[in-house]
Amino acid sequence: MENELKRLPQRAKEKHVENKKFFAKLKKRPPKNLDYLMDELHESEFERTDCLTCANCCKTTGPLFTSADIERIAKHLRLRPAEFIQQYLRVDEDNDHVLQEVPCAFLGDDNACFIYEVRPKACREFPHTNRKKFHQITNLTLKNVAICPAAFNIVEEMKRRIKP
Ligand code: SF4
Ligand code: SF4
Repeated sequence: MENELKRLPQRAKEKHVENKKFFAKLKKRPPKNLDYLMDELHESEFERTDCLTCANCCKTTGPLFTSADIERIAKHLRLRPAEFIQQYLRVDEDNDHVLQEVPCAFLGDDNACFIYEVRPKACREFPHTNRKKFHQITNLTLKNVAICPAAFNIVEEMKRRIKP
């Protein structure tokens, strides 16, 4: 996995133009069964993927924390929301609460998440490849294929399966 992760940004760069063109066409004419297909591609990729050997999302990018995330995680850590924010979060240029630093402070040496049961919604949903109306989040996906090997493989499989 380590080698795969090292090569991923370069591989994503090489596919960037092709992916961009594919997504532009997909947006214009999304197939009727897109939700169903993305579910299938996502499930089958994650059956083969062991996130505990990777954790690249937790190491290189972070989730945004919604108010509900902050309340829930602070409660779990027996902190007041304001204390939790002060210790772990900052406000980014889009006015969202994000991690102060990466790798995420909640990531263990064994790649397990200390707050797994109460982790942010964005962590639960990453890399969003089974999102309904997937064609609406293709710009995000263009970035995620350079971070997440599973997202990269899903997009490659999409291009084989869909001819928009
Ligand atoms: S979601 Fe993607 S980047 Fe995150 S740990 Fe799993 S395979 Fe790696
Ligand atoms: S909260 Fe957990 S799942 Fe989310 S980035 Fe941190 S370690 Fe990863």
